[in-house]
Amino acid sequence: METIETDVVIVGGGPAGCSCALYTSRADLKTIILDKNPSVGALAITHQIANYPGVPTDISGDDLLKLMRDQAIQYGTDYRRAQVFGVDITGEWKSVYTPEGTFKGRALVVASGAMGRPASFKGEAEFLGKGVSYCATCDGAFYKGREVAVVGVNKEAIEEAQVLTKFASTVHWLTSNDPKEEDMHAQALLNEPNVKHWSKTRLMQIEGNETGVTGISLKNRTKDENQSLPIEGVFVYMSGSKPITDFLGGQIAVKEDGGVVVDDFMSTTSDGVWAIGDIRNTPFKQAVVAASDGCIAAMAIDRYLNSRKSIRVDWVHS
Ligand SMILES: Cc1cc2nc3c(=O)[nH]c(=O)nc-3n(C[C@H](O)[C@H](O)[C@H](O)COP(=O)(O)OP(=O)(O)OC[C@H]3O[C@@H](n4cnc5c(N)ncnc54)[C@H](O)[C@@H]3O)c2cc1C
Repeated sequence: METIETDVVIVGGGPAGCSCALYTSRADLKTIILDKNPSVGALAITHQIANYPGVPTDISGDDLLKLMRDQAIQYGTDYRRAQVFGVDITGEWKSVYTPEGTFKGRALVVASGAMGRPASFKGEAEFLGKGVSYCATCDGAFYKGREVAVVGVNKEAIEEAQVLTKFASTVHWLTSNDPKEEDMHAQALLNEPNVKHWSKTRLMQIEGNETGVTGISLKNRTKDENQSLPIEGVFVYMSGSKPITDFLGGQIAVKEDGGVVVDDFMSTTSDGVWAIGDIRNTPFKQAVVAASDGCIAAMAIDRYLNSRKSIRVDWVHS
């Protein structure tokens, strides 16, 4: 298995990772991004992003992310698809382990986002990837002409259900509370001809066999009996998101809410390791905030690796 040495290893190719890579590459630091999947991060699954400064308001998250990734690559970033499953940050060189090989960096940046989810329902973990999904953009096309269920009433659930209306014959939308009347996106979803809303209804169990999901059992708050629905896909958006830090093996400090602890320069409690974007579990999870984190970390890394006393800016007054 190959071992590759570089200046900066970045785990995660979302807006945080790509903006960091853009800056480190432009500072002549050899930079590798290791990205599990460019289609599953928070920005990648965003249907439309209307508030990223300077880009058209009808751009999809996926298209915006591609622009960011291509810009980093243009300046020399080595972008690779690889899922990081472990790190060793004890020495001067930080080792990052993937099935494709080991990557050693003088600086490590963790930017894996917060799309980790603990299973909430019976059958959810068992059938994950076999009918249970958290990404309509990734998996929606598998359900063309079939019946699916979407569970949850948050913004993500509504956006994902909207995506599924393009593929599924019926989208069964299960919400334990009714969506707000002033929520335009929710009302638009309810007006889709192939959406059936199950109001005040809880998912009790996801059922299936060796072929995958075959149905769900649900319960309306006003009824005594559970009801069964024969469906093939379940998209769950209940538990919100959770910073993805499992691959760190407890080697850096995290807060009670699971977010990685950083200082003003995005440095973690471990020397030579930075954390940026949603993995910090900031109260304002936005693409522009993640990109800003990436810029701050990159400039701090440049100073760290080049033993500069001050941060070198990426511009000069003319
Ligand atoms: C439905 C939804 C709608 C949103 N709408 C908006 C909006 O309108 N405007 C806005 O500004 N923000 C929006 N956000 C928030 C915004 O998308 C996030 O704040 C932002 O994407 C965070 O960037 P990030 O780089 O930290 O993480 P992410 O974008 O989640 O990227 C993380 C990357 O890390 C990779 N990764 C994860 N684990 C590993 C691993 N073990 N090894 C290698 N790679 C790994 C993932 O594949 C992914 O590519 C929305 C979020 C969601 C979920």
